[in-house]
Amino acid sequence: MNTGDVIKIYPYEGKITNEAGATISTFSLKPETILDEVRAGGRIPLLIGRSLTDKTRHALGLEASTLFTRPTMPSDTGKGYTLAQKMVGKACGLPGVRPGTSCDPIMTTVGSQDTTGPMTRDELKELACLGFSADLVMQSFCHTAAYPKPVDIQTHHQLPDFFSTRGGVALRPGDGIIHSWLNRMLLPDTVGTGGDSHTRFPLGISFPAGSGLVAFAAALGVMPLDMPESVLVRFTGELQPGVTLRDIVNAIPYVAIQAGKLTVEKQNKKNVFNGRIMEMEGLPDLKLEQAFELTDATAERSCAGCTIKLSTETVAEYLRSNVALLKNMAARGYSDAKTILRRVAKMEQWLANPVLMEADKDAEYADIITVNLNEIKEPIVAAPNDPDNIKLMSECAGDKIDEVFIGSCMTNIGHYRAAAKILEGAGVAKAKLWICPPTRMDEKQLRDEGMYGIFAASGARTEMPGCSLCMGNQARVEDRATVFSTSTRNFNNRMGKDARVYLGSAELAAVCALLGRIPTVEEYLAIVTEKINPFAGDLYRYLNFNEIAGFEDEGRVIPLEDLPKIEDILGIPSGVLS
Ligand code: SF4
Repeated sequence: MNTGDVIKIYPYEGKITNEAGATISTFSLKPETILDEVRAGGRIPLLIGRSLTDKTRHALGLEASTLFTRPTMPSDTGKGYTLAQKMVGKACGLPGVRPGTSCDPIMTTVGSQDTTGPMTRDELKELACLGFSADLVMQSFCHTAAYPKPVDIQTHHQLPDFFSTRGGVALRPGDGIIHSWLNRMLLPDTVGTGGDSHTRFPLGISFPAGSGLVAFAAALGVMPLDMPESVLVRFTGELQPGVTLRDIVNAIPYVAIQAGKLTVEKQNKKNVFNGRIMEMEGLPDLKLEQAFELTDATAERSCAGCTIKLSTETVAEYLRSNVALLKNMAARGYSDAKTILRRVAKMEQWLANPVLMEADKDAEYADIITVNLNEIKEPIVAAPNDPDNIKLMSECAGDKIDEVFIGSCMTNIGHYRAAAKILEGAGVAKAKLWICPPTRMDEKQLRDEGMYGIFAASGARTEMPGCSLCMGNQARVEDRATVFSTSTRNFNNRMGKDARVYLGSAELAAVCALLGRIPTVEEYLAIVTEKINPFAGDLYRYLNFNEIAGFEDEGRVIPLEDLPKIEDILGIPSGVLS
């Protein structure tokens, strides 16, 4: 086809012809209901209209209307289901769902962040939503809290009430990053969504969506989904000395590139993960905070969703901690207390009988990628400026680093302790160093442990918990700076104008800050061997709130007796839960 050619597009016939009437291309519409969506003025009006029509005709004893295009279901292969297919199946009242199935899973947990929150609010108003049907809807303020514009301040004032009066849970500016909080509210083997592309639950499964669908999911408690295919990522072997989980995050595209299943070039790009669910197994004993590093980064692989197989013990440990955190939120006066305590009760119900779903042995995957940890012997980074531009650290050694950012939802408290250990007693860092913990709880704990003193001595600039440099809409790095960052993505101009950004671990970030350049493998391993390995057990501890004395009552403004009673919330007699 050439510029200036006159063509005709036949959407119903699925063909494109030239002026002479010859067919020059054919296509099929996906989803097959798209023409109905166009006629209805969008997917949501169609869903509402079709469901109302169906219910009305059913109540009148009439056959289902033939006016709508009904999604055709894929044929059943008779094989087992993957973990994702089982989780979505459970949310649909089925044993599993096959890829290609159009379904409406129950959305147990829904997240909204502050840059899309106002749009979600407007969509909720259009849906005349006065109360959420989703079990827990949470609103965060992490993208705009640190350096708010006047319009953000307005959002900070208005959005909490809008959400909490509908039964949602509103965080507060300065609390921290949406995912670091929402993950702590999840229930195992349930489905959710969020208006942020990094809504990638490490527990259950999530399908990130635009503000319209998020509003729909919050209001109606279900979300339309065309079930994607799954790709299995299987980890084998052992983590090698000096190699961190963040390096394993980068090892996934590294292995896929070597297998010819992922290319870096934009033109004719190959990406085995694109639009699919990444299902990970082989690291069952990861803590949830660590597991989220792996699931969070599936956004960079353009996955539709992800699952990770974890042990029951790990999940139970996380939920016990989260029960304490949520009880503390209620004590501190976060709204809506009923929703918070209902989630506590459901966590306690799961803890009383902890069982997790598992993929069937004969489950079918569109592809299988095996990452042998024994073969990853040095850090792996995403080089400027593409998260898929994966390189071994040794290929980048010596590149000058101007600024270092340790922050974003990819980090947890262990990373900050490890970075502090590397920086401790080493004087002022050669590169400009930014430190931004993910939540206010991480910040407090790090202060209590004296880590902020170490950061100050190294000349670091510390930021309010939140997205900070990762989002790039707040503070920015210098124009044309070369940056080493622990954040999620390094697209052009995201962190600073014409900045070159490497992505990698907090441990490597701290070494880069000290040296002002990317180290050699020998330099890096020498520092890690001396400063990290002997203290690893102490550094990589996670926030178990249930083990912090007096935590549930910290900052209490609501007397215990004034909080809603679990029995009243769940509508069951007293004593049944104990
Ligand atoms: S830290 Fe970055 S990736 Fe994570 S939610 Fe914030 S802006 Fe998004």
